[in-house]
Formats: sequence, C-alpha cells, structure tokens
Amino acid sequence: MRALERVRDGMRRDQVFGFLMPRGLPVLDTSHNTILYMEQVSVSFDGFKAINDLNLYVDAGELRCIIGPNGAGKTTMMDIVTGKTRPDTGQVWFGQSMNLLEMDEPQIANAGIGRKFQRPTVFEALTVFDNLELAMAGPRGVLHALNATLSGEQRDGIERVLSTIGLIDEQHQNAGQLSHGQKQWLEIGMLLMQKPKMLLIDEPVAGMTHQEMDRTGELLGSLAGEHTVIVVEHDMDFVRSIASKVTVLHQGSVLAEGNMDSVQSDPEVRRVYLGE
Ligand code: ADP
Ligand code: MG
Repeated sequence: MRALERVRDGMRRDQVFGFLMPRGLPVLDTSHNTILYMEQVSVSFDGFKAINDLNLYVDAGELRCIIGPNGAGKTTMMDIVTGKTRPDTGQVWFGQSMNLLEMDEPQIANAGIGRKFQRPTVFEALTVFDNLELAMAGPRGVLHALNATLSGEQRDGIERVLSTIGLIDEQHQNAGQLSHGQKQWLEIGMLLMQKPKMLLIDEPVAGMTHQEMDRTGELLGSLAGEHTVIVVEHDMDFVRSIASKVTVLHQGSVLAEGNMDSVQSDPEVRRVYLGE
C-alpha cells in the first residue's frame, strides 16, 4: 500500500467528521511526520512529460535539497506544490489533512507554504525594516500596514526575523543598498514574516560570493526544524556543505535519494547527471 493510503486508513477519528472541524481549511496535521506527499504525479506540456510518475515525500522539519539537470522538472515540481500548475494525475498532500490539489494558490500560501523565486523582489526604495513590515501584512494589508502603528509583539516579530537573517545592522538602510546576497536573505525574511510551515527556495546561492554562500547555508540550516525547507540548487559545493538529504530528479522522476556521498557515487546519477 502507498504511504498516503496507509495514512488515510489510520486517519484520526475527529477528521472523519468534517462538520466537527472549524470552518475553512483543515489544520496542518503532520502526526505521521511527513509534511509533503507527492504520489504518482504526472504532468505533460504539449505531450511532453515534464513530471512523470513522481513520488516524493518530505519529513516535517527537514532541509531537503533537490538537484537534477536542466529540464528535470524541479521548477515544475514546485509549481505543482504551490498550485501554479495542476498535475494531470496523482496526489499532492500537505500533511495528512490538506489536499493541495483542491486548493488554489492563495489558499496554499495561507496554509503555510511560502515560495522564494530566484530573483529577489524586495522594495528597493524602502528600508529593510519596512520591507519586513509590509511582508507581515501580506499583499492585501499593505495600505493598512503603512498607516497603522506596530504593536510590541509585531515589532518583536520583525526583530526576531532581522536577527535570523543577519540584517540587524542594516535594518534602517534602503533595501536597494544591500548586496545581492543580503537582498536574498531579506527576501527569505519577508517569507518568514508570513510564518510559513514549509519554504520552497529556488537556487538561493546563484550569484553569491563564497562567504554569502556559507552564511546562506547556515541560515537555511537554522530554519530547518521549525520549518521544512526544500531547496532547489545547482551548486554542488553548496549542496554538499549543507549536508542534508538530497533528491535527484531526472526526466520528471526521482532518480536517486540519500546523502550527498551516496547520491554522487550512484552509477545512474553519474551517468545522467555528471555526464559519465
Ligand atoms: P528544471 O527546473 O528542472 O530545469 P522545469 O521544471 O523548468 O525543469 O522544466 C521541465 C520541462 O518542462 C522542461 O523541458 C521545460 O521546457 C518544460 N516546461 C516547463 N514548464 C512548461 C510550460 N509551462 N509549458 C511548456 N513546457 C514547460
Ligand atoms: Mg528550474
């Protein structure tokens, strides 16, 4: 039996009765320790299978790296999780209770799945602090945020994130003055203001200096545990340095999974990915 069916079989009694649950979306349930289930997922674009019978499971609190050659389906996989792309077949669940295929993009974001795209999209003319403040409000609350006074709790929340992303000293600078790496950290901070349970991050270290890469590795490591972090990355040295479980995608399916050493010595991986 597939993992998801096993979970469904042992589903909690209180969840069998939908009318007993609060209105709106079910709460995230990771009591089986898996936060993301993708089972037998396929999607085709003009007859080309970008994702082909993909089975992927991620534990709650894990830092998972996804690698694979160009066109392997990494971005499409993230598009499916965030609701941007609908698969033709398969199941995608966030914990045991949330069927992501029945939710639209805003609902998925509200349920606690945050995504960071490769290019930073910070507001360059605003300070670092103000960027975080706006991110806390979310897109619909921007006008309100600009006019309202912050509560002590909100200010503490911003300061905690400033400390996490290492930008306390830069908080009053305009975001436009930050280095490329600092802008990436600010954008991760903006995601954190929404208190996501799971973060999807596409190529965080592209264009960074070595020192910035090291600090990014530390940052992502510090987020794991409280958050689940899924990182798509090309830079092998970086993936090795963060020493987490690695999934290799190839032609829309999982080719290999394990620690970096086992994955790199896998003959199939060496053949298709490293060109041997
Ligand atoms: P990766 O991120 O691993 O490089 P992608 O997920 O971007 O791979 O792409 C997987 C394959 O699907 C590629 O061949 C790509 O050209 C194709 N593809 C992705 N998105 C679309 C789309 N919206 N329309 C048509 N083809 C697409
Ligand atoms: Mg991509």
